Amino acid sequence: MASDPYGWLDKSLAALHRAHRYRSVQTIDGMAGPTVQRRGQTLVNFASNDYLGLASDPRLAEAAIAAIRTYGTGSTGSRLLSGHRELHRELERAIAALKGTEDALVFSSGYLANLGAIAALVGTPDLILGDEYNHSSLKAGGKVSGATTLDYRHGDVADLKTLLAEHRDRHRRCLITTDSVFSMDGDLCPLAEILDLAATYDAMVLVDEAHGTGLFGQRGSGVVEHLGCAGRPLVTVGTLSKALGSLGGYVAGSSALIDFLRNRAPGWVYTTALSPGNGAAALAAVQIVQQEPQRRDRLWCRVSYLTQQLDQILAESAAASCQLRRLPSASPILCLEGHSAAAILSASQQLQSAGLWVAAVRPPTVPTSRLRITLMATHKPSHLEQLVAGLQTLLEAEPLAL
Ligand SMILES: *Cc1c(COP(=O)(O)O)cnc(C)c1O
Repeated sequence: MASDPYGWLDKSLAALHRAHRYRSVQTIDGMAGPTVQRRGQTLVNFASNDYLGLASDPRLAEAAIAAIRTYGTGSTGSRLLSGHRELHRELERAIAALKGTEDALVFSSGYLANLGAIAALVGTPDLILGDEYNHSSLKAGGKVSGATTLDYRHGDVADLKTLLAEHRDRHRRCLITTDSVFSMDGDLCPLAEILDLAATYDAMVLVDEAHGTGLFGQRGSGVVEHLGCAGRPLVTVGTLSKALGSLGGYVAGSSALIDFLRNRAPGWVYTTALSPGNGAAALAAVQIVQQEPQRRDRLWCRVSYLTQQLDQILAESAAASCQLRRLPSASPILCLEGHSAAAILSASQQLQSAGLWVAAVRPPTVPTSRLRITLMATHKPSHLEQLVAGLQTLLEAEPLAL
């Protein structure tokens, strides 16, 4: 009898469809920005990580073009072989200066930076304690490292302490991992408390600033600065692909840490160096973050305005048995949690017909389905008003379906 070793693929896809978990790409035409074009429709974009609007900034484009003219499109090798350029060091110095750390190391993506750093810092004799809502790349890093990995309840320092007290002694090294801004919720980690526990239990701390860098802190350094933790012993990871409008990732920390990673992080040693165009665009973005704090200010104004508006329309529709709930947030990521994946998907589609692009985030990415709204410094007040009106229509039309 002929067997089909790939037959399970169709069955798995059918199961995804049935559970409303099937996903597919949507094509955007033209330039990134607060509004985008899709199949002739203009959509106000609430689904981007381009918080400062830098992905379409001509200064980043010019820097990338100049670097490509100077160095070429590809870096042609890994950093330790033929891929290293002065541009990489300049970018690393600029990131270290922004972060206030001794040094930094750039990777080809934030995902790889987490994978590389975690797998270098811990191995099979070691312990990783991670927030249960951590980004997929932190979880994948734990698996690749071979360390014993335990999750603590989201943001729960007491639970982390219990796990440390119970398990720390049985392992050589311990690494605590957490997002600084939780990417699918928008709340912040209790970093100062985590660092205090880490000091008591002789543990390292890795914080992922993917959604913090460029937005938080006086200098735009990130949540570490915002929570008064700059200068404390930390491994900071981040991406060049969100507020910095480019592509790539980094680790920032002590000289010893960075020197060690250059020797032992597989996700850095065995992959091609960041391309010149991406590196130059990111360098221009780091400079803009430092020189233009007004971009952050504008973003935070948008955040407080929309938060207040959302709470108002949700409170008003509460009488009509509204079942959307705003999740706690302290960032430009605002989430409205709903009952079911199907309801959230339908809400997102209805918003889309009204010219509003709001992502429906569903399990298994998150435990509960939600509309995820991300704000940009370049959103106009009218964009936010349009979103509020769209949500209001949704709440009035179908109070029970959500
Ligand atoms: C996006 C993201 C990453 C991955 O960064 P890329 O540069 O896109 O690979 C890592 N961690 C968190 C929390 C993220 O949101």
